[in-house]
Amino acid sequence: MNTEEIMAQDNEYVMQTYGRQPLALKKGKGAVVWDVEGRAYIDCVAGIAVNNVGHAHPRVAEAISKQAHKLIHTSNIYYTEEQVRLAKLLVEVSPHQKAFFCNSGAEANEGAIKLARKYTGKGEIIAMENSFHGRTITTITATGQHKYKKNFGPLTPGFKHVPYGNLEAVGEAITNETAAVLVEPVQGEGGIIIPPEGYLDELKKLCHENDVLLIFDEVQTGFGRTGEMFASQTFKVTPDITTLAKAIAGGFPMGAVMASEEVGNAFQPGDHAATFGGGPLACAAGLASVETIREEGLLVRSRENGEYFKNQLKELFLEHGLVEDVRGVGMMLGMEMDMPCSRMVDDMRLQGVLVNCTAEKVLRFVPPLVISQEQINDVTDCLDEILRRLSD
Ligand SMILES: *Cc1c(COP(=O)(O)O)cnc(C)c1O
Repeated sequence: MNTEEIMAQDNEYVMQTYGRQPLALKKGKGAVVWDVEGRAYIDCVAGIAVNNVGHAHPRVAEAISKQAHKLIHTSNIYYTEEQVRLAKLLVEVSPHQKAFFCNSGAEANEGAIKLARKYTGKGEIIAMENSFHGRTITTITATGQHKYKKNFGPLTPGFKHVPYGNLEAVGEAITNETAAVLVEPVQGEGGIIIPPEGYLDELKKLCHENDVLLIFDEVQTGFGRTGEMFASQTFKVTPDITTLAKAIAGGFPMGAVMASEEVGNAFQPGDHAATFGGGPLACAAGLASVETIREEGLLVRSRENGEYFKNQLKELFLEHGLVEDVRGVGMMLGMEMDMPCSRMVDDMRLQGVLVNCTAEKVLRFVPPLVISQEQINDVTDCLDEILRRLSD
């Protein structure tokens, strides 16, 4: 099928929940994807921070295909070696001691909220304005943006929102009924918002003084995105609970809730479950993906090439009045424009670069961590040309 035929059938048979780009993708390799017409694109979207090890990584592909020939699924009524091996590896690379496996970011956040309520025996959750935590009823409640909630009430009771970066507001919001504070260490969908200096550290202190748990939603920041395996390591602040998904299994659907020994032990048999959670296929993909990040030195690459990319973008900021700000950490970068940026996304796609526009005015760059400096140059040259044309 060509692009037009695929678009027509999508319109006929698929619920129209996505504002899609007119592009049908067929294959990928590293930081490049190809559409069904055979055109190549440098991919700075990467499934939205999912394909951290690059598209079609041979090690991940091999692990999935080998496992598929052995055992695709079995119930969590039984044990598998793949699940315990991945849990052990995640404990090794994270600041936590226990894992629960699920299938998506929203589901991981749901699990974290249940765990915090069970452990503390309290109900209230404090979340941040401008945050994003998923699309289930409880996670749109936790999300601090109206556009995701309208038309879907009644929402889940027990949630409050405070401005991200404002410690005083958290202090005022905490009551005797507060179970946890839920925060993205770097806000992703909200426009790549970096925490103010010392904020996460102080937030942790504030939580602990008040017997409140701190939950980091690392669904987007996880697995090398910010230059360390997790943003908790980049910012040197250990939360009580971390939620993971997106890049965890190299593009295979998976999520996880990680916690300290004590908090994790609050869940007892029967408390929580997921039919597909931690299935052998997802775990094989997760093992291959996390091992690849470690063994291919992708954390160093994320830091070094991320810094290189940010500096290239900063040069564009100095040259072009239309750019308001460039910010980011590791390979999680944002370029804020003084206008909505969806036109620029179209222009870049037509020139062979995929980016995405979030928070209306922010071009988000979250490419595979394997992207080369040469590919980064191609992206910024393309941006330079478009910005030049726009300011004429
Ligand atoms: C993408 C994202 C989610 C939701 O993940 P799904 O797998 O789509 O449910 C939650 N939190 C953050 C920070 C995200 O970026």
